[in-house]
Amino acid sequence: MADPEQTLRGVLVSRGRRCSSAGCHCQEGELHGPYTYLAVYMDGRSRTLYVPAAARPIVERCVEVTQRGEALLVQISQINLELLRRRALE
Ligand SMILES: [Zn+2]
Repeated sequence: MADPEQTLRGVLVSRGRRCSSAGCHCQEGELHGPYTYLAVYMDGRSRTLYVPAAARPIVERCVEVTQRGEALLVQISQINLELLRRRALE
């Protein structure tokens, strides 16, 4: 089971950003960054939260630990479903 303090459900994405200064190279398509964002599903819709560079290693680790924990839950659930199915056939 994932450590509650390390539980963070989301997907890390990397993308460039356009600023608001007129005449900046980003207006021509050469974006700033890339910056890291965490795509999360919150209050019924998806959002992307900016992840500061200093926080990236921690966020990466939490996302990974959470994904592994969820994959394990799916496996355990499948085993339990199989056991339930067998019991139902007895
Ligand atoms: Zn710019």
